[in-house]
Amino acid sequence: MVNLEAYRDILSNIPKSVALVAVSKTKPVEDILFLYQHNQKVFGENKVQELCAKYEQLPKDIEWHLIGHLQTNKVKYIASFVSLIHAVDSLKLLKEINKEAHKNNRIISCLLQIHIAQEETKFGFSYNEVEELLASSEISELQHIKITGLMGMATLTSNKQIIMSEFNELAKFYDRLKLQLTLPNCNFSTLSMGMSNDYKIAIDCGSNMIRIGSTIFGSR
Ligand SMILES: *Cc1c(COP(=O)(O)O)cnc(C)c1O
Repeated sequence: MVNLEAYRDILSNIPKSVALVAVSKTKPVEDILFLYQHNQKVFGENKVQELCAKYEQLPKDIEWHLIGHLQTNKVKYIASFVSLIHAVDSLKLLKEINKEAHKNNRIISCLLQIHIAQEETKFGFSYNEVEELLASSEISELQHIKITGLMGMATLTSNKQIIMSEFNELAKFYDRLKLQLTLPNCNFSTLSMGMSNDYKIAIDCGSNMIRIGSTIFGSR
Protein backbone atom coordinates (compact mmCIF):
# COMPACT_ATOMS: atom_id res chain seq x y z
CA MET A 1 0.00 0.00 0.00
CA VAL A 2 1.18 3.50 -0.81
CA ASN A 3 2.05 5.74 2.11
CA LEU A 4 0.75 9.01 0.72
CA GLU A 5 1.71 10.92 3.82
CA ALA A 6 5.32 9.78 3.59
CA TYR A 7 5.34 10.63 -0.13
CA ARG A 8 4.06 14.15 0.52
CA ASP A 9 6.46 14.54 3.39
CA ILE A 10 9.42 13.76 1.13
CA LEU A 11 8.17 16.13 -1.57
CA SER A 12 7.70 18.99 0.86
CA ASN A 13 11.12 18.50 2.44
CA ILE A 14 13.33 18.27 -0.63
CA PRO A 15 14.47 21.27 -2.70
CA LYS A 16 12.55 21.94 -5.94
CA SER A 17 15.74 21.20 -7.86
CA VAL A 18 15.78 17.58 -6.68
CA ALA A 19 13.85 15.06 -8.81
CA LEU A 20 12.07 12.21 -7.08
CA VAL A 21 12.04 8.82 -8.79
CA ALA A 22 9.38 6.62 -7.18
CA VAL A 23 10.89 3.13 -7.14
CA SER A 24 7.97 0.75 -7.75
CA LYS A 25 9.82 -2.56 -8.19
CA THR A 26 7.83 -5.60 -6.97
CA LYS A 27 4.79 -3.36 -6.34
CA PRO A 28 1.48 -3.78 -8.23
CA VAL A 29 0.32 -1.48 -11.03
CA GLU A 30 -2.57 -0.34 -8.81
CA ASP A 31 -0.08 1.29 -6.43
CA ILE A 32 1.68 3.02 -9.29
CA LEU A 33 -1.61 4.27 -10.73
CA PHE A 34 -2.62 5.59 -7.31
CA LEU A 35 0.57 7.62 -6.99
CA TYR A 36 0.29 8.72 -10.62
CA GLN A 37 -3.16 10.09 -9.82
CA HIS A 38 -1.49 12.10 -7.07
CA ASN A 39 0.75 13.61 -9.71
CA GLN A 40 3.89 11.44 -9.55
CA LYS A 41 5.02 10.93 -13.15
CA VAL A 42 8.50 9.44 -12.75
CA PHE A 43 8.86 5.80 -11.75
CA GLY A 44 11.88 3.53 -11.47
CA GLU A 45 12.12 -0.22 -11.97
CA ASN A 46 15.13 -2.49 -11.70
CA LYS A 47 14.11 -5.40 -13.94
CA VAL A 48 13.49 -5.19 -17.68
CA GLN A 49 10.67 -7.71 -17.81
CA GLU A 50 8.76 -6.09 -14.97
CA LEU A 51 9.34 -2.63 -16.44
CA CYS A 52 7.92 -3.72 -19.83
CA ALA A 53 4.86 -5.36 -18.28
CA LYS A 54 4.08 -2.24 -16.26
CA TYR A 55 4.72 0.08 -19.20
CA GLU A 56 2.12 -1.85 -21.21
CA GLN A 57 -0.54 -1.51 -18.54
CA LEU A 58 -0.08 2.06 -17.38
CA PRO A 59 -0.60 5.62 -18.76
CA LYS A 60 1.80 6.50 -21.53
CA ASP A 61 2.91 9.82 -20.06
CA ILE A 62 4.74 8.06 -17.22
CA GLU A 63 8.50 8.58 -17.41
CA TRP A 64 10.10 5.21 -16.86
CA HIS A 65 13.61 4.96 -15.46
CA LEU A 66 15.55 1.72 -15.43
CA ILE A 67 17.57 1.91 -12.23
CA GLY A 68 18.95 -1.63 -12.02
CA HIS A 69 21.68 -3.50 -13.81
CA LEU A 70 20.99 -3.86 -17.55
CA GLN A 71 22.19 -6.78 -19.66
CA THR A 72 23.04 -5.96 -23.28
CA ASN A 73 20.66 -8.59 -24.65
CA LYS A 74 17.71 -6.87 -22.95
CA VAL A 75 18.23 -3.31 -24.20
CA LYS A 76 15.98 -3.95 -27.19
CA TYR A 77 12.92 -4.44 -25.00
CA ILE A 78 13.04 -0.99 -23.42
CA ALA A 79 14.69 1.16 -26.12
CA SER A 80 11.42 2.45 -27.55
CA PHE A 81 10.16 4.03 -24.36
CA VAL A 82 12.67 4.22 -21.49
CA SER A 83 13.41 7.81 -20.49
CA LEU A 84 16.57 7.33 -18.42
CA ILE A 85 18.92 4.40 -17.81
CA HIS A 86 20.67 4.89 -14.47
CA ALA A 87 23.13 2.04 -14.24
CA VAL A 88 25.26 1.95 -17.38
CA ASP A 89 28.53 0.27 -16.50
CA SER A 90 30.32 -0.66 -19.72
CA LEU A 91 31.20 0.68 -23.15
CA LYS A 92 29.67 -2.47 -24.62
CA LEU A 93 26.34 -1.59 -23.03
CA LEU A 94 26.54 2.02 -24.24
CA LYS A 95 27.12 0.76 -27.79
CA GLU A 96 24.13 -1.54 -27.56
CA ILE A 97 21.90 1.24 -26.20
CA ASN A 98 23.12 3.44 -29.04
CA LYS A 99 22.27 0.78 -31.62
CA GLU A 100 18.78 0.16 -30.29
CA ALA A 101 18.10 3.89 -29.82
CA HIS A 102 19.07 4.42 -33.47
CA LYS A 103 16.61 1.72 -34.59
CA ASN A 104 13.91 3.55 -32.68
CA ASN A 105 14.99 6.92 -34.01
CA ARG A 106 15.66 8.15 -30.47
CA ILE A 107 18.43 9.54 -28.32
CA ILE A 108 18.44 7.72 -24.98
CA SER A 109 19.70 9.47 -21.86
CA CYS A 110 22.08 7.43 -19.71
CA LEU A 111 23.84 7.81 -16.37
CA LEU A 112 27.15 6.11 -15.71
CA GLN A 113 27.04 4.08 -12.52
CA ILE A 114 30.08 4.44 -10.33
CA HIS A 115 30.87 1.86 -7.70
CA ILE A 116 31.31 3.94 -4.56
CA ALA A 117 30.31 1.39 -1.91
CA GLN A 118 32.55 -0.95 0.02
CA GLU A 119 30.50 -4.03 -0.88
CA GLU A 120 32.04 -6.15 -3.62
CA THR A 121 28.82 -7.25 -5.23
CA LYS A 122 27.54 -4.00 -6.62
CA PHE A 123 27.99 -3.12 -10.29
CA GLY A 124 29.58 0.00 -11.66
CA PHE A 125 32.68 1.69 -13.01
CA SER A 126 35.60 2.88 -10.92
CA TYR A 127 36.43 6.59 -11.13
CA ASN A 128 39.44 5.76 -13.30
CA GLU A 129 37.38 3.68 -15.68
CA VAL A 130 34.98 6.56 -16.23
CA GLU A 131 37.87 8.94 -16.94
CA GLU A 132 39.22 6.48 -19.50
CA LEU A 133 35.84 5.89 -21.06
CA LEU A 134 35.15 9.59 -21.50
CA ALA A 135 38.59 10.13 -22.99
CA SER A 136 38.17 7.40 -25.62
CA SER A 137 37.27 8.41 -29.15
CA GLU A 138 34.71 5.63 -29.40
CA ILE A 139 32.30 7.36 -27.09
CA SER A 140 31.93 10.48 -29.23
CA GLU A 141 30.75 8.34 -32.15
CA LEU A 142 27.64 7.22 -30.29
CA GLN A 143 25.11 9.72 -31.62
CA HIS A 144 22.00 8.09 -30.20
CA ILE A 145 22.93 8.25 -26.56
CA LYS A 146 23.35 11.21 -24.27
CA ILE A 147 25.32 10.80 -21.08
CA THR A 148 23.53 13.12 -18.70
CA GLY A 149 25.32 12.34 -15.46
CA LEU A 150 26.30 9.83 -12.83
CA MET A 151 24.65 7.41 -10.41
CA GLY A 152 25.96 5.79 -7.27
CA MET A 153 24.86 3.72 -4.30
CA ALA A 154 26.52 4.18 -0.92
CA THR A 155 27.55 1.37 1.38
CA LEU A 156 24.66 -0.22 3.26
CA THR A 157 25.59 0.98 6.73
CA SER A 158 24.20 2.99 9.61
CA ASN A 159 27.48 4.92 9.74
CA LYS A 160 26.58 8.33 8.32
CA GLN A 161 30.21 9.38 8.02
CA ILE A 162 30.92 6.57 5.56
CA ILE A 163 27.82 7.35 3.48
CA MET A 164 28.65 11.05 3.50
CA SER A 165 32.23 10.60 2.39
CA GLU A 166 31.17 8.28 -0.46
CA PHE A 167 28.50 10.71 -1.68
CA ASN A 168 30.82 13.70 -1.31
CA GLU A 169 33.51 12.06 -3.39
CA LEU A 170 31.04 11.19 -6.14
CA ALA A 171 29.64 14.73 -6.10
CA LYS A 172 33.14 16.21 -6.40
CA PHE A 173 33.88 13.96 -9.36
CA TYR A 174 30.54 14.87 -10.97
CA ASP A 175 31.19 18.61 -10.56
CA ARG A 176 34.64 18.31 -12.11
CA LEU A 177 33.46 16.29 -15.12
CA LYS A 178 30.49 18.60 -15.64
CA LEU A 179 32.91 21.51 -16.05
CA GLN A 180 35.54 19.66 -18.08
CA LEU A 181 33.51 17.59 -20.52
CA THR A 182 33.24 18.86 -24.06
CA LEU A 183 31.96 15.74 -25.83
CA PRO A 184 28.88 16.46 -27.96
CA ASN A 185 26.94 13.56 -26.45
CA CYS A 186 27.81 14.29 -22.82
CA ASN A 187 25.90 16.98 -21.02
CA PHE A 188 25.84 16.54 -17.29
CA SER A 189 22.71 17.63 -15.47
CA THR A 190 21.90 14.69 -13.20
CA LEU A 191 23.56 13.28 -10.12
CA SER A 192 21.43 10.29 -9.05
CA MET A 193 22.20 9.34 -5.48
CA GLY A 194 20.13 8.64 -2.41
CA MET A 195 17.51 6.02 -1.48
CA SER A 196 15.01 5.71 1.39
CA ASN A 197 17.65 5.42 4.08
CA ASP A 198 20.22 7.92 2.86
CA TYR A 199 18.52 10.47 0.60
CA LYS A 200 18.82 13.33 3.08
CA ILE A 201 22.57 12.84 3.28
CA ALA A 202 22.71 12.52 -0.51
CA ILE A 203 20.92 15.84 -1.02
CA ASP A 204 23.23 17.54 1.47
CA CYS A 205 26.12 16.22 -0.61
CA GLY A 206 24.70 17.57 -3.89
CA SER A 207 22.34 14.93 -5.28
CA ASN A 208 19.63 16.25 -7.59
CA MET A 209 17.84 12.95 -8.20
CA ILE A 210 16.76 10.57 -5.46
CA ARG A 211 15.37 7.06 -5.91
CA ILE A 212 12.87 6.22 -3.18
CA GLY A 213 11.07 2.89 -2.90
CA SER A 214 10.18 1.45 0.49
CA THR A 215 9.39 4.75 2.24
CA ILE A 216 6.66 5.42 -0.33
CA PHE A 217 5.44 1.95 -1.26
CA GLY A 218 6.18 0.01 1.95
CA SER A 219 8.77 -2.66 2.54
CA ARG A 220 9.35 -5.31 -0.12
C1 LIG B 1 15.47 -0.65 -4.87
C2 LIG B 1 16.33 0.46 -5.31
C3 LIG B 1 16.15 1.76 -4.81
C4 LIG B 1 15.12 2.12 -3.75
O1 LIG B 1 15.47 1.57 -2.52
P1 LIG B 1 14.64 1.92 -1.17
O2 LIG B 1 15.59 1.62 -0.11
O3 LIG B 1 13.46 1.00 -1.19
O4 LIG B 1 14.25 3.33 -1.24
C5 LIG B 1 16.97 2.77 -5.28
N1 LIG B 1 17.91 2.52 -6.21
C6 LIG B 1 18.12 1.30 -6.72
C7 LIG B 1 19.17 1.11 -7.74
C8 LIG B 1 17.33 0.23 -6.30
O5 LIG B 1 17.54 -0.99 -6.81
